[in-house]
Amino acid sequence: MKLIFIAITLASTVLLEAQTDPKIYDIIDAVSEERLRLDVKTLADFGTRHTLSDTVSDTRGIGAARRWIKSQFDNISKDCNNCLEVFYQKDLVEKGRNQRIVKDVMVVNVVAIQRGTKYPNRYIIMSGDIDSRVSDPTDYTSDSPGANDNATGMAGAIEAAHVLSKYKFENSIVYLGLSGEEQGLFGGQGMAKYAQDNDWDIIGVLNNDMIGNIAGVDGVIDNRTFRIFSEPITTGEKDADKLKRQARARRFYGGEVDGISRQLARYVYKTTKTYMPEMNPMIVYRLDRFGRGGHHRPFNDVGFAGIRIMEAHENYTQQHQDLRTENGINYGDTFEHVNFPYCKKLTAVNAITIASLASAPPSPKDVGIGGIVEASAKLQWDKVEGAKGYKVYWRDTTSPTWDNSRYVGNITEFTLDGIVIDNFLFGVAAIGNDGHESIVVFPNKIIR
Ligand SMILES: [Zn+2]
Repeated sequence: MKLIFIAITLASTVLLEAQTDPKIYDIIDAVSEERLRLDVKTLADFGTRHTLSDTVSDTRGIGAARRWIKSQFDNISKDCNNCLEVFYQKDLVEKGRNQRIVKDVMVVNVVAIQRGTKYPNRYIIMSGDIDSRVSDPTDYTSDSPGANDNATGMAGAIEAAHVLSKYKFENSIVYLGLSGEEQGLFGGQGMAKYAQDNDWDIIGVLNNDMIGNIAGVDGVIDNRTFRIFSEPITTGEKDADKLKRQARARRFYGGEVDGISRQLARYVYKTTKTYMPEMNPMIVYRLDRFGRGGHHRPFNDVGFAGIRIMEAHENYTQQHQDLRTENGINYGDTFEHVNFPYCKKLTAVNAITIASLASAPPSPKDVGIGGIVEASAKLQWDKVEGAKGYKVYWRDTTSPTWDNSRYVGNITEFTLDGIVIDNFLFGVAAIGNDGHESIVVFPNKIIR
């Protein structure tokens, strides 16, 4: 009896160990607060990084800023035996395209790809923004340091490259600096189109926009909580018949809060809870802040999974503001307001999510579910090349997170004994080396 107990304890210890990868803790520790501080300072010191600003000067304007960002990626690449493919991706946006484009402008993104060893065409993307703005979105000459919005996201992407370039991953990682955000999300549009044109298989986009403020306009000071914004379902589908079928399926089987971006948000939540339990990830059931935008959206628009990671408490006197003092308040998005210990934490959240996803096999393509008027729900999925096994997930219909799971080994069908299909939502993930999991897939067909 005693022996059996010990054997069970040992078996469960081994299983627990298999679910965490020690490398991920090293990655958290390797994120450098000091480099983030230096990089945000450098970006803020370009004076303005407005999308329409000067491109000739070496010290001021968006041209100097993007050349510096590219040089950072080039330097990182030199240190890892040329492990990054660094290039500009650009598109001309003509004057009058909207009210914020007051002259023709080349919207230029900086791209750095760390090629995956096993799935070179599968990409997990971390993005920040190059550009900044003040009160008037067309004012491209005034000082616009954009320290938090969004030098923090940009510095975070550069820092993630620093840390993750020391490792090899099965999937490709893209570190991305996007431009034209404040003018109408033009850089994201250009990059999403580039990805489509080149048949990129995108695992997900982690768009970081403002990851350095801990003192909110609501009076709350909080260096633990951050928000993960995601749209509920994919909006990219254009085929009217398909849309009708999808709406009907959601009505009868559910799925209205289980789109691919929402699953990516849950993945960030789970990875954070596993490896950085001191943090408080807050899933927000919204595309973005109320009525506001961000650079994950253009990717969503064409059907890719994408989310926004950002601080929980914003300060509106410190974003999109002319630098000035009014009634004793210092307006402006300046370096002094950025909290770097917090920026480091959110950069680490990105880095561990990327490392996990870049180490994971692809998700099962199709997942079927059955069990109507039966005592047990049944799931069935396609075999994934490279998967060591699978995990079946389920949760209460009102829960935002995948609270229950069961590892089921290397099979493609499983019956959850005594779990009634009506009372839960279900999903399946593929498991790879060191326990790294794919994003959970919500069922897309009914099986008998
Ligand atoms: Zn902004």
